[in-house]
Amino acid sequence: MSATGRAAIRSPQFDYRGGVLYTESLSLDQLAQRFGTPLYVYSKAAFIDAWRRFNQAFDGHGQRVCYAVKANSNLAILKLLANLGAGFDIVSVGELERVLRAGGDPAAIVFSGVGKREDEMRRALEVGILCFNVESEAELLRLSALAHSQGRSAAIAIRINPHVETDTHPHIATGHRDAKFGIDIQRAETLYGQAASLPGIRIIGIACHIGSQITQPAPFMTAVSHIMTLVERLLENGIALQHVDLGGGFGVHYHDEPQLDISALIGCMRQAVEKHGLKLLLEPGRVLVAKAGVLLTRVEYLKTTDQGRFVIVDAGMTELIRPPLYDAWHEIRAVELRPGMPFELHDVVGPVCESADTLGRDRRLAVQAGDLLAIMDAGAYGFSMSSNYNSRPRAAEVLVDGEHATLIRRREVLEELMMQEELPD
Ligand SMILES: *Cc1c(COP(=O)(O)O)cnc(C)c1O
Repeated sequence: MSATGRAAIRSPQFDYRGGVLYTESLSLDQLAQRFGTPLYVYSKAAFIDAWRRFNQAFDGHGQRVCYAVKANSNLAILKLLANLGAGFDIVSVGELERVLRAGGDPAAIVFSGVGKREDEMRRALEVGILCFNVESEAELLRLSALAHSQGRSAAIAIRINPHVETDTHPHIATGHRDAKFGIDIQRAETLYGQAASLPGIRIIGIACHIGSQITQPAPFMTAVSHIMTLVERLLENGIALQHVDLGGGFGVHYHDEPQLDISALIGCMRQAVEKHGLKLLLEPGRVLVAKAGVLLTRVEYLKTTDQGRFVIVDAGMTELIRPPLYDAWHEIRAVELRPGMPFELHDVVGPVCESADTLGRDRRLAVQAGDLLAIMDAGAYGFSMSSNYNSRPRAAEVLVDGEHATLIRRREVLEELMMQEELPD
């Protein structure tokens, strides 16, 4: 395992022992027997490791790390992160209620998103969140009127679109000129001026988030430089800020991406921000949870066609949509190694009736029907993006801590899928 090599860097919490893949002290085949498949398996130690590694760059300094809830919003994981000292970045009232239920501190919540409804704002004001990251003039006016009418004041940052291009998939780039996110950097100064005079509004920061799964430092640093130029102009105009929120987007090593040196990057960000006596706030999602989870699935059938070989498994795009949606690559491992069995190239596909329902193409595997496969690095944007398409109950989620496994979300049952529906007379 080398930090500079191109081989995927693994969490030590997911490794083979005697030819069988383990999570901490439990083998994945035991977990599959006990909880069934498809199954999301998370390692508590891996979450803690990722949190510690991310926070190392701050060496205990007054940072605020607001975990982006949408990456993995299971209550048990939110509670784990809250206990480690995380704040939270939310994009809906649903995520807000999850954080509150998990025991997260409302005063450490930032609220992002282009379409905040009035009821969502009202609830966030009521519980006293840290900051609204405002994304348009219309939103600013709505928030001002609402807060003022309640005799409250809403703390805000304006989310800037810094116009930077990133190397990530177009679906997860958010900081380019034609994205729906944020305020044009040229218009930001005017909007800050307006915000300063609005009732019910208290300016405390500035924000940006340029996209997800970014694996080069350059786009981040370009954004920092644009944002800090703006911060200087705001300061000159008497608009004082307390924090600079540089968002999330820190890429992880799924396959052959460059390894992002996050500590060095955060060090540069801190330098730029703290020079002005401001506090750095970050909103990492993926980097805190991706490596801490695998999707465990069982092989139903092997199938050979003129086009090639397929491994048909019991998980698909309903459990993990990243491969079809973003062309994402996840390593796929056999849970039990089969010494002596020849490796063949396979496409690993799910049961969903869509040609896009492929979890991995051209994978070298030695497997037979009934075997278990682990889709690695599935802790981020896995379960949280899952769906019931094809009337498939959602998978169960299990959190492993040493030799203990806790069911943190039980498998859905078919009755639950039909419960909200009515048969007309
Ligand atoms: C999704 C999102 C994040 C987290 O992105 P990651 O790539 O998971 O780190 C942070 N901030 C905002 C505003 C987001 O929309």
